[in-house]
Amino acid sequence: MDLRYTIRRSAKRKRLTITVERDRSVVVHAPAAMPDAAIGRAVEARRQWIREKTRHGRKYREPPHPPGKELVNGESALYLGRSYRIELVKGDADDAGGVRLDRRFFVPVLPRAAGAPAGHGATAMRDWYVARAKEHILPRVERHARSLGVRYGRARIVDSRYRWGSCTVRGNVNINWRLIKAPAFVIDYVIVHELAHLIEPNHTERFWGVVRAHAPGMEGARSWLREHGQLLEELV
Ligand SMILES: [Zn+2]
Repeated sequence: MDLRYTIRRSAKRKRLTITVERDRSVVVHAPAAMPDAAIGRAVEARRQWIREKTRHGRKYREPPHPPGKELVNGESALYLGRSYRIELVKGDADDAGGVRLDRRFFVPVLPRAAGAPAGHGATAMRDWYVARAKEHILPRVERHARSLGVRYGRARIVDSRYRWGSCTVRGNVNINWRLIKAPAFVIDYVIVHELAHLIEPNHTERFWGVVRAHAPGMEGARSWLREHGQLLEELV
């Protein structure tokens, strides 16, 4: 594939980053002094990622938190279907116990001058989501499996930019940690959907019958997921 891209150089930029715009054009942001050949090699190294992004069926939205970009005060973030404002507070996620939710998200961040790594507020936020996902989603998998009468191998919270959940041939169930942003009925639908594949691997009439019976909010859940599909591409 012939990979076309536009180079934008800036004196302020320290590292090279590649973005895929809404119209799927590829822009390489590079430090001013970086030679073309080095840029070419960097683009080549990320060819697979670029291809996936430009081929994506859905309209591609740039994630709000590319690596290295910090969270901003007043931004909001979803949890169990509700949106909460983010308030950055001075602190270290490691010793202050991390992110706290109390009508708003309190995210501890250290000033860059104190040697804090780029994007560490976003990392703290993500750790918080993963922990909540393990806490809330895994027991629900267990409960739904019992009511469906299916046995699964292992349930795990995973990181994926392309799917909410999946079921492996060995009967393991994987759920994307980002699903914890969705309302409970959506979480239940995704879990039931994956577990129902242990009964029927394909999306047949029978399959949907099983899902509908165990996740009555199925239609609403599917439209919520369609509407919020871009959450999958967000880094936090
Ligand atoms: Zn399926």
